[in-house]
Amino acid sequence: GRKFFVGGNWKCNGTSEEVKKILTTLNEGKVPSQDVVEVVVSPPFVFLPLVKSSLRPDFHVAAQNCWVKKGGAFTGEVSAEMLVNLGIPWVILGHSERRLILNESNEFVGDKVAYALSQGLKVIACVGETLEQRESGSTVEVVSAQTKAIAERFSNWANVVLAYEPVWAIGTGKVASPAQAQEVHAELRKWLQANVSPDVAATTRIIYGGSVSGANSKELAGQPDVDGFLVGGASLKPEFIDIIKSAE
Ligand code: 13P
Repeated sequence: GRKFFVGGNWKCNGTSEEVKKILTTLNEGKVPSQDVVEVVVSPPFVFLPLVKSSLRPDFHVAAQNCWVKKGGAFTGEVSAEMLVNLGIPWVILGHSERRLILNESNEFVGDKVAYALSQGLKVIACVGETLEQRESGSTVEVVSAQTKAIAERFSNWANVVLAYEPVWAIGTGKVASPAQAQEVHAELRKWLQANVSPDVAATTRIIYGGSVSGANSKELAGQPDVDGFLVGGASLKPEFIDIIKSAE
């Protein structure tokens, strides 16, 4: 089976004092064992060393981005090699905030995913449609094109988690219904089956993100193709522990 996966994306939030508080909450939280759930928290770059050194050993860390190729003269960027050098195992790539606000194209995201994987990082690759795209009926087309641009650049999916994050559900309190999430997750799995392989489709975790909370996680987790969550706002709160518990 696919091990449940819960990621906490802190986005561009936190002071060192707040990070220490979150760490205490996480470290004291009672959660299912690592055999049942894989937990990854993703602080801003500057807090990665602090979080890595102080976080309980059964939780892991992710960066929120990295450069598209080998480091060098790219002012302001952080390379995949640097993350590897620091012992950071995971990176989130293709988040909709980067696609839409920083104008990252499908191809650029695909290049980033392939390069990060080639350096030994594990990748949470994000896809998702805007409200306008959903309302015009192009959700499946949009997430398929985003997934295609990722899939055509590498072949080994062992270190990839695919995150479906509808843009209209992110930070809005408007969570996708369990049926809406399940429908797109099933379409993504079907896409992987047809375009990558039945094995990759069966084994790749497809996680949901967008207004996940302690109150709605259990029902979402009950959907057959929802293999976990990528949590934004609630990952900064004690509620994150409740979301992790929905793995059981
Ligand atoms: P919210 O949980 O705050 O809606 O954010 C979701 C998200 O973007 C996680 O990457």
